[in-house]
Amino acid sequence: MHIPQPRVVVLAGGVGGAKFLLGVRAALRRLGAPEATVVVNTGDDLWLSGVRLQPDVDSITYALAGQNDTVRGWGRAGDTERVNEELQAWGAGWPWFTLGDLDLGTHLARTGWLREGLTPSQVLARMAERWPLGVRLLPMTESEVDTHVLLEDGGRLHFQEWWTRHRAKLAPRAFENPGITDAVPAPGVVDAITAADVVLLAPSNPVVSIGPILAVPGVRDALRETTARVVGVSPIIGGRVVRGMADVCLTAIAVETSAAAVAQHFGARSAGGVLDAWLLAEEDAASVAEVEAAGIRTVVAPLWMSDENASAGIAEAALRA
Ligand code: GDP
Ligand code: CA
Repeated sequence: MHIPQPRVVVLAGGVGGAKFLLGVRAALRRLGAPEATVVVNTGDDLWLSGVRLQPDVDSITYALAGQNDTVRGWGRAGDTERVNEELQAWGAGWPWFTLGDLDLGTHLARTGWLREGLTPSQVLARMAERWPLGVRLLPMTESEVDTHVLLEDGGRLHFQEWWTRHRAKLAPRAFENPGITDAVPAPGVVDAITAADVVLLAPSNPVVSIGPILAVPGVRDALRETTARVVGVSPIIGGRVVRGMADVCLTAIAVETSAAAVAQHFGARSAGGVLDAWLLAEEDAASVAEVEAAGIRTVVAPLWMSDENASAGIAEAALRA
């Protein structure tokens, strides 16, 4: 099946998702295809100092707008932290969590619009008016279903506290999104998946980025029923995470940190899972037979997203799969 101008949907988390989306956008522009629809993880969202933070939404927005800090890896380029110092002096917010001044402008704008009654989808559409992103961003759901980490010692933390304060050092037992079983996909999510030619799973954290999206009731069913090809890109290269804490998350849910294990965790569509095909790195070519035996087609490709061109190559390989 070769579709010259495919309608593409991407499920994505934050920084890994953003790097991949730069490539998807470039690849679709080369094909003259319509803009991709991106279903973004909102499990990382939180309230802090009276404002709503959407880390994955903002990572994607800043990266596609060319406004991201590529050196630090998160937040806005050229940001300062004057307001943050003042918040710390008041003992407000979290002492281990830095909010940049420009970033706070985003959070204030978003929170203001939410308070005025806009829905989270409408807020995203409003934000896309400032910087044409070259993709259509949709939150996975409009409900607040922030990811919590249940610890081995019985404690419970918001994902952001577990990651930014404790650097994933406290052993997790499970990840939960309270309220998610009552949530519904945001407007447009199911329709986009249903009408797509290809659905791509970005090489995002399988547990806390892709996991919450798949946990929104209705998303898995849409992926199982769509006539689109569903193609995932491995976030694991040579048995290791490229960056972040996906290995700790995978261990907590008893999935090995390997490209093959993550593919089998998502599962073949033919066996009740969500994948038709899986892109593996050249370093993991030895796992091809194992993934194929699970009913998932494999494509071996270089998966290092070192720059936009490399990401575009990965996106093209995924679109061909
Ligand atoms: P976050 O929400 O900011 O943590 O970002 P994501 O969940 O979207 O992406 C994090 C994942 O991206 C990690 O599990 C990494 O292994 C993966 N990742 C980062 N850089 C690369 C890369 O260059 N290639 C591949 N294949 N995966 C990557
Ligand atoms: Ca994230």
